[in-house]
Amino acid sequence: MILFKKADELTKYLRTKSEKGLITGFVPTMGALHDGHIQLVSECKANSDLCIASIFVNPTQFNDPGDFKKYPVTIGQDIIALEKAGCDVLFLPDVQEIYPDGTTHLPHYALGFLETVLEGFYRPGHFQGVCQVMDRLLSIVMPDKLFMGRKDYQQCMVIRKLIGLKQWDIQLQWVPTVREASGLAMSSRNKRLTETQRQQATAIYHALSLISKTLRPGSMDAYTSNATQQLLDAGFEAVDYISICHADTLEAVDVWNGQIPLVALAAAFIGGVRLIDNMPLTGV
Ligand code: AMP
Repeated sequence: MILFKKADELTKYLRTKSEKGLITGFVPTMGALHDGHIQLVSECKANSDLCIASIFVNPTQFNDPGDFKKYPVTIGQDIIALEKAGCDVLFLPDVQEIYPDGTTHLPHYALGFLETVLEGFYRPGHFQGVCQVMDRLLSIVMPDKLFMGRKDYQQCMVIRKLIGLKQWDIQLQWVPTVREASGLAMSSRNKRLTETQRQQATAIYHALSLISKTLRPGSMDAYTSNATQQLLDAGFEAVDYISICHADTLEAVDVWNGQIPLVALAAAFIGGVRLIDNMPLTGV
């Protein structure tokens, strides 16, 4: 694996690869890698000729500065894991490299409805930060294919929108969520949970699975309120949302006609750690 810290050197290197006709695939991450990230690398390797990963904890996407400070950093282990997974190139920039002119006058993106709901509502400015870093990373790497996790469902939708706004010829692949044997969605934030909290946190998976198994057309109210209660009973301190939405637009669906594609999404706090998860309900 070749490691680059400088954007222009990486761009130059990748240009030579593209000129040779190689299909490049990109896996952007914030590090503290787990098997979910490694699955993205595997998908990337299986579907492209050159796999490029990045590790950059982006300050502009943390609406809570405390969350940014506590974000786990495990660079040494991450490099070993990427190497083992067969990643070809690692981009490891510092903040100055990504934001050479600072972070105060970065572009604003017309995300519309998408950033007014769910994560957009509860984490104001978060998706602007995600777009700022992805705009920069994608401009540097300009991959043929981009691999992102369905675990961050709304983020995938935001990046699809960004690619459209920029009119880039980049194919976005949504990789299914990798879970622990317990059902808990893998997340770098799980590292901050105690063993007991990790057990309790599986309630998100169980609540979403129950919605999926019992769903019938009609009012969605009881499904979301029962799921919220399940999380509180399991020991979650607060539930930001459990929402059943149109899978293509994220508009909330109050009454389901049995036909439109649905996804259930959740965000809740346990041990002061905010976890998110989602589950397609209609085979989308
Ligand atoms: P992060 O490092 O949290 O920014 O995540 C980097 C990429 O890994 C994003 O595209 C995430 O959606 C993806 N990802 C995170 N957790 C999982 C998971 N459990 N399964 C699949 N992809 C994941």
